[in-house]
Amino acid sequence: METVVSGIRSTGNLHLGNYFGALKNFVKMQHENNCYFFIADYHSLTTHPTPDDLHGKVKQVLAEYLACGLDPEASTIYLQSDVPEISELYLLLNMNAYVGELERTTSFKDKIRKNPENVNAGLLTYPVLMAADIIIHNATRVPVGKDQEQNLEMARKFARRFNNMYKVDYFKEPQPYNFGEALVKIPGLDGTGKMGKSEGNGIYLFDDAKTIKKKVMKAVTDSGPTEKNSEMPEIIQNLFTLMDVVSDKSTIDFFREKYAECEIRYGDLKKQLAEDITNFNAPIRERILDNLSNNDYLRKVAKMGAEKARESASKTVKDVREIFGFKSF
Ligand code: AMP
Repeated sequence: METVVSGIRSTGNLHLGNYFGALKNFVKMQHENNCYFFIADYHSLTTHPTPDDLHGKVKQVLAEYLACGLDPEASTIYLQSDVPEISELYLLLNMNAYVGELERTTSFKDKIRKNPENVNAGLLTYPVLMAADIIIHNATRVPVGKDQEQNLEMARKFARRFNNMYKVDYFKEPQPYNFGEALVKIPGLDGTGKMGKSEGNGIYLFDDAKTIKKKVMKAVTDSGPTEKNSEMPEIIQNLFTLMDVVSDKSTIDFFREKYAECEIRYGDLKKQLAEDITNFNAPIRERILDNLSNNDYLRKVAKMGAEKARESASKTVKDVREIFGFKSF
């Protein structure tokens, strides 16, 4: 059994990319592994949310996690800020993290380019907090997308450095968990490639029928194929990639055939796709609304998760403090 840690930023609602690229797999793996899923609310502070926004978004993400099928009995689901041991490990790891290496990370360079007016120290040490999140449970596996590989490499580096500096074999080096062949990339419908929060092109699990229809009908298309059995350009393939995850095989076959025969009407395809996304979303959306209206349930889940996470985290911090040389009189 592996110890798996995965976090999600609380900066926005979950979209279809998050579901099919990550959550669907998490739901499956939670029964076979010792899983920790957390909401990275400390990390979201780098963008200075208002207090109301901070709480509201954390609540929304927790409600959505649960609505997707993460089971608080099978896994440990918690808020990062409910586990103060993470902050302590972050502080300790910061002492052995070098400014130069942090400045060189792609994510830092990217962030200062996008937000030159808010280059705070939290952004610089973002990978150190990520490393603390992971190694606090001595994780062996971290489910990551390609974009997160460098951050995981940093976590491995800090774990290795700690072991070398203090001549111990304490931290394991966490490895990526790639779900084998099952990894899918959900495209955006605006021709930019990936569906994502920062891309602003998400179809959210919380979106209702009207919103979905509006988004899907706006999808970029072309003037249609002119030769039978011709290859699809990426913007059209994107519509089919979405169909592949939400529609019936017979529906997909029908529209593929229409495309191959040059008889496709993108308006019909989009209408069907919007309907199938709405049907896919409906039960999840209902569960999200249920969860949001049941604050007692959310509080119970968060409390139970925090207790389980702190049990594992406090053991690590106690050991690390001892290794550093902190001793009581
Ligand atoms: P993010 O929303 O960028 O914090 O990503 C959370 C998780 O969802 C990560 O595991 C990502 O790899 C995954 N993810 C995000 N967008 C997509 C997408 N368009 N297709 C597949 N997986 C995605």
